[in-house]
Amino acid sequence: MTDLENTPKATTDEVLLEVKNLQKYFVVDTSFFGKPTKYLRAVDNVSFSLKKGKTLGIVGESGCGKTTMGRTILRLYDVTGGEVWFKGQEVSKLSEREFNKLRPNMQMIFQDPYASLSPRLTVGEIIGEAALQHGLTTKSQYRDYVLNVMKTCGLQPHYFERYPHEFSGGQRQRICIARALALKPELVICDEPVSALDVSIQAQIINMLKELQQELGLTYVFISHDLSVVKHISDEVGVMYLGSMVEYGSKERIFENTLHPYTKALFSAVPVPNPHVKMNRVILKGDIPSPVNPPKGCKFHTRCEHCMEICKHVPPTYREVEDGHFCACHLYASEEELAKFALQQETERLAQETASV
Ligand code: SF4
Repeated sequence: MTDLENTPKATTDEVLLEVKNLQKYFVVDTSFFGKPTKYLRAVDNVSFSLKKGKTLGIVGESGCGKTTMGRTILRLYDVTGGEVWFKGQEVSKLSEREFNKLRPNMQMIFQDPYASLSPRLTVGEIIGEAALQHGLTTKSQYRDYVLNVMKTCGLQPHYFERYPHEFSGGQRQRICIARALALKPELVICDEPVSALDVSIQAQIINMLKELQQELGLTYVFISHDLSVVKHISDEVGVMYLGSMVEYGSKERIFENTLHPYTKALFSAVPVPNPHVKMNRVILKGDIPSPVNPPKGCKFHTRCEHCMEICKHVPPTYREVEDGHFCACHLYASEEELAKFALQQETERLAQETASV
């Protein structure tokens, strides 16, 4: 049994990570007196919970806030608002010292395996340095500990003394994964871990992540814009648009009963491996709007082919449309909500008419 196999296994339905109304705003402009006047709302009221041993796939176009959300969960960015609960502790409220104890439990695998490894350290140092600092191994057991982790991640023992520039992208990503696993984490946030790799290598890394999850009981937040990869690896899927979660549910529900027009457009772009099946591609109009000046009402209304009057004025409620399947879209609004908006519009129209007489 390797050291890594001592990591607690997922045996219960225990919630490991809970994110409640998470916000991350960046200040983009200030007044003469230094008071913030304009914000970029990178993550805007995102909520979800993730059970131990499961994978949550997060999808969305570039710039939708996926990576910022992952980094904010890990406290690499300060939280602007909302809460992040990990194993029953509110991460953003912990002191630096308390959080340092928790840090090995929450790890991240970055997108670019070329930029995320120090060129001056050997593979052994890269993988084992943090484990040594956090007291997960001793100086005398260091080498064996690191070799064990390397073996788990499919790295040869003689790589121990070598430097990152001697490796291909796939091997570098294995080193990044080994560096994260050396800390015996329970939660790993994988930020586009295969997007910089060749397709053949992507499959190897994804399968390795799946095997490690089974073996070590890991919980993943898997950020990607590749829907085929997300479908393959995820148990739950969250779809983000302009900093907000617009649809969330189990993989089966999201792929078999897609609700949100944005998710439908994303899914329509996935190639079907059958020449006899006609693709009904939904082409989205225009570019993703700026998160500094998001559109009023539903943020997607400027590009949505189902846009109604209410969508231009009222932000849709993020509601549970079917068991465990959430969606923020007025197409699923209740009769009362639509009637309330119609009444409001009528009252405004009459008020304008009266004012102009
Ligand atoms: Fe489209 Fe309206 Fe639904 Fe937004 S709320 S996705 S604009 S139908």
